[in-house]
Amino acid sequence: MVKYSWAKYNNKIVHINDVTIEMRKNGSFFNLISNKKMTAYLEGKFKPHFHHLNKVNFSNETYLHEAAKEVFKETYLDAVENKVPFYLEYPIKAVCDRHFKQTDIFCNIGTRTEAYDLTKTFDKIKVEEGFDEFKPDIQLLSTKKPTEVIFIEIVVTHKSTSKKLNSRNKIIEITIKNDSDVIGLKNKRLSFEQNNTEFYNFKLNSTTRDFCSLTKKGCREYRKVFILNKNGSYEFTEYYLESILAEIYSNQENIKFVDYHLDKFYNERKTESENQIEYLNYRNIQIRECELCRYAGYSRRRINKKEVRLSLFCKFKKELIQSENALSCEYFRTKDIKTEHS
Ligand SMILES: [Zn+2]
Repeated sequence: MVKYSWAKYNNKIVHINDVTIEMRKNGSFFNLISNKKMTAYLEGKFKPHFHHLNKVNFSNETYLHEAAKEVFKETYLDAVENKVPFYLEYPIKAVCDRHFKQTDIFCNIGTRTEAYDLTKTFDKIKVEEGFDEFKPDIQLLSTKKPTEVIFIEIVVTHKSTSKKLNSRNKIIEITIKNDSDVIGLKNKRLSFEQNNTEFYNFKLNSTTRDFCSLTKKGCREYRKVFILNKNGSYEFTEYYLESILAEIYSNQENIKFVDYHLDKFYNERKTESENQIEYLNYRNIQIRECELCRYAGYSRRRINKKEVRLSLFCKFKKELIQSENALSCEYFRTKDIKTEHS
């Protein structure tokens, strides 16, 4: 037995929950399929529904299919007429070019959902009319782009044939199992994230633009970067692109050169420091370690009559140091090779 919750009223589709006693007094309800007169049952021990004065037999499938088609059509046309968006939400491959100009890096952020207002392109609709050898439930058509068409197929029992799906026509298949699926069509939104909605022959396009500026933290692309300062000191840094760049911008006047593409010089089988040394050699950059500085010395001590080298010591600053202090030390001077051997 069909539970009728949709009927026609003043030539528009209406849900039983939206019917008022006023409406019942002033107008008539008609069956969506047969156009036979119906009554709105509103109060009593049963749930509100429409019923026939005389018994008419339809399968529940036929009824749901018809109701969904009508609700979709009216909702869509209403959006077009009143300039309200009817969204198509679809996945795109998102590529961020926020820092491309400075770094030559596209930040890869994977799949994103884009919303597109269908009414911007598709301003016309056809119901149950032929297209090539097919007869889609609904066709969305465009005055601006006459070659564009989207088929809307309401699936209650029969899925679209593979011939139709392989036809290269864009098809959106909406599965309708019950009344609430029909009501869902009034949301003016078709999304690939909805379980009952399938998209066919839509391309997964990639879109490049500054996506990350909309986020609080900016580009989360993780990168190894080399920075050479004007005073000869350098830095290997590894962090989110956004943060590295912020530091670089704030320190720009001291920087001679930045390499954002270290990864391609790095050999996975080598340690970080081996890779760094190799990179510096490749760039012809003097390695800065205190051991290589002319001011470096060692604090010494006699232990058991033997002199033992202890900590690294800077003769210029007169303090104990760590080898990597040289990286940021303004007094770093390489040893004169001759004096070392004399
Ligand atoms: Zn980004």
